[in-house]
Amino acid sequence: MSAPLLEVAGLAKHYPVKRGLILAKQIGTVRAVDGVSFTLQRGETLALVGESGCGKSTTARLVLRLIEPSAGEVRFEGRDITSLDRADLKAFRRRAQIVFQDPYASLNPRYTVGRTIAEPMEVHGVRDEASRRARVEELLRLVGLAPYHAERFPHEFSGGQRQRIGIARALAVEPDLVVCDEPVSALDVSIQAQVVNLLADLQKRLGLAYLFIAHDLAVVKHVADRIAVMYLGKIVEIAEKRALFANPCHPYTRALLAAIPHPDPRRRGQVTPLGGDVPSPLNPPPGCRFHTRCPFARDICREKEPALANGVACHLAEELPPAGLDFSGGLAPNAAKRLALYAKAAENA
Ligand code: SF4
Repeated sequence: MSAPLLEVAGLAKHYPVKRGLILAKQIGTVRAVDGVSFTLQRGETLALVGESGCGKSTTARLVLRLIEPSAGEVRFEGRDITSLDRADLKAFRRRAQIVFQDPYASLNPRYTVGRTIAEPMEVHGVRDEASRRARVEELLRLVGLAPYHAERFPHEFSGGQRQRIGIARALAVEPDLVVCDEPVSALDVSIQAQVVNLLADLQKRLGLAYLFIAHDLAVVKHVADRIAVMYLGKIVEIAEKRALFANPCHPYTRALLAAIPHPDPRRRGQVTPLGGDVPSPLNPPPGCRFHTRCPFARDICREKEPALANGVACHLAEELPPAGLDFSGGLAPNAAKRLALYAKAAENA
């Protein structure tokens, strides 16, 4: 296998928590991301999945160096981006772009669509003006819009169309890596499948690598090659998509899968939904961070933190009963609809 496009090792982001205005005293540390490691190949999609507050979006921002890490390395084509100078960081940013979650907030309402898409080319000094205009038209067609849309303003478009504009903007400077930060979670269910399938189609055509952030396993089922499940700042399971869906090992992954109703009612089982809230990252539980919600927790789980071994961070990974296929909790009523829509869109693609 060729060298990875992206290598992340021991990545951490800790925020000091202080009390007092004058002579503020540090009273704790929020461990938003706490020792995350993974690789991403060219043309591959790695999905980072977990509940809100698990550190997945912070990880995405660290990977793009939009925020500085507390520890760890992010290597892009073998080069550590955490030590790049200004000029090299700008060159890296041309190669690694982001599609934001909120297509309403991420577009400047005063810019025409043409100016929005052309802006990254201007910032990076790519092409002359006439060539940029031609490229904007090409990009609009690529994302399923029309060249005349370049003259319009964001408020004239629907949420799904705005996200297409955001994708066109990200692709303007021909990146190798696109971080998709919950790109469909702000969209109507009926539009989500169209945007997910557009991203999959663009990946095939352009050979893009995606780091795809999502809180919903139903979304990544149709777009990911591999999936990393995060809980309280750590990866608790990482596996090929098929293996993860067929044989989830970590109890938290099982709980996330249980939240997706199986389309076939005969395959539905009685899975206990995950109870409780995610504990605060300010005072994460000792030992395994998941032990306060895990139905299998034992004494060792409360005392010793499990290492990520063979893709799973669980003391009992070898002993737990097989997960089987009965993953449905009925916790996410929209998920069945989404799964059906994705399947239908994939058939038509
Ligand atoms: Fe559950 Fe223990 Fe495994 Fe943590 S280590 S997931 S508490 S069984």
